[in-house]
Amino acid sequence: MNIHEYQAKQLLKQHGVAVPAGDPCKTIGEASAAAAKIFGSGHKLAVVKSQIHAGGRGKGTFKSGFQGGVKLAKSADEAVAHARAMLGQVLVTKQTGPEGRQVNTVLIASAETIKKELYLAVLLDRANSRPLIMASTEGGVDIEEVAEKTPEKIVKEHIDPAVGIQPYNARKVATALGFKGELFGQACKLIIAVYKTWWECDAAMVEINPLCIVEGPDGKESIVAVDAKIGLDDNALYRHPDILAMRDLGEESPLEIEASKHSLNYIKLDGSIACLVNGAGLAMSTMDIIQHFGGNPANFLDVGGGASKEQVTEAFKIILSDPNVKAIFVNIFGGIMDCNVIATGIVAAVKETGLKLPLVVRLEGNNVAAGKKTLAESGLTIISADTMSDAAQKVVKSVA
Ligand code: GDP
Ligand code: MG
Repeated sequence: MNIHEYQAKQLLKQHGVAVPAGDPCKTIGEASAAAAKIFGSGHKLAVVKSQIHAGGRGKGTFKSGFQGGVKLAKSADEAVAHARAMLGQVLVTKQTGPEGRQVNTVLIASAETIKKELYLAVLLDRANSRPLIMASTEGGVDIEEVAEKTPEKIVKEHIDPAVGIQPYNARKVATALGFKGELFGQACKLIIAVYKTWWECDAAMVEINPLCIVEGPDGKESIVAVDAKIGLDDNALYRHPDILAMRDLGEESPLEIEASKHSLNYIKLDGSIACLVNGAGLAMSTMDIIQHFGGNPANFLDVGGGASKEQVTEAFKIILSDPNVKAIFVNIFGGIMDCNVIATGIVAAVKETGLKLPLVVRLEGNNVAAGKKTLAESGLTIISADTMSDAAQKVVKSVA
């Protein structure tokens, strides 16, 4: 699960990371109040930030033509005008795809005088089975380019999960980031606090880009997280009801939400061949084999090891609500799964949805004879196949 920048900043703040003061706003009224608060407390500059679950907002463009999903404002009126230009509008960034995302919330925060933009992230390094801190002096909006062209500018520090982060880990990262003097101690504390946020929230990733050295009105420098992104491990969310409450269904695909209600693991893709498969590994190899024979999968769909007839019917309905779908490929290997349950589900679903598209079914395993009999006796036009490659070729041909 992903959360918004303003929510990520709340979690970071709870763990002792300095973030600029600000409020999320859904209406112009809220935006006026938030802007008045910032300028009323003596700040000279505010920043208005579109809250969507995608990065690259600063360089993004609204479909309305308005430039930039992150804008500075020198007065409360200007901040409100920016909020007005963003709220309800669709923002297109490098990460949203051409369809963009509607901005329903803006974060209005006090803006800082930035002296330097750095990069700091904590994630799980699966290859080493360890948490990993990544940092770079080259933070800001072009970090992807840094990673690609000058990877040596990104430093990596692994953490031993059994002992947790140690002061020396933080000192190494702070040194690599070039911190000196008074800021060095501040940086070490902040790095530890960011790591603790990652660990205690069961996050998959915490990314601060940019982490900034800013100059206060008194000329004093300090370190603050100017942007923040947190991705959570879904399997651990049950331990964090407060974080689960941050879920924004408006940012998730309606079909994926519907699927999760029926415990189906569905991810929409751009192709034309829908897949209904049991098991994530088989689902991935099904997508691979469709591509191998020249087709494109319309989705990833894992109905799980013990799907019921009702779940299969729901799965069909979800698949069919995608207008790009031109054929369906059911690929089931019955281990725990009884092939006849799937077959009964398919027949019920085809009848209920009045399916007109080509349907290729490959069943194998537990109770397969009964399953094939159910399909054969149903009177439905089903293209049956014996092997995965036979089925994949048939389904690709059906959309050609
Ligand atoms: P992103 O484009 O989605 O990553 O959004 P960011 O929050 O990272 O903002 C993009 C850029 O806007 C940052 O790299 C900064 O250069 C600038 N920016 C964001 N917040 C502030 C701020 O408070 N003060 C100043 N001066 N610039 C900011
Ligand atoms: Mg950023």
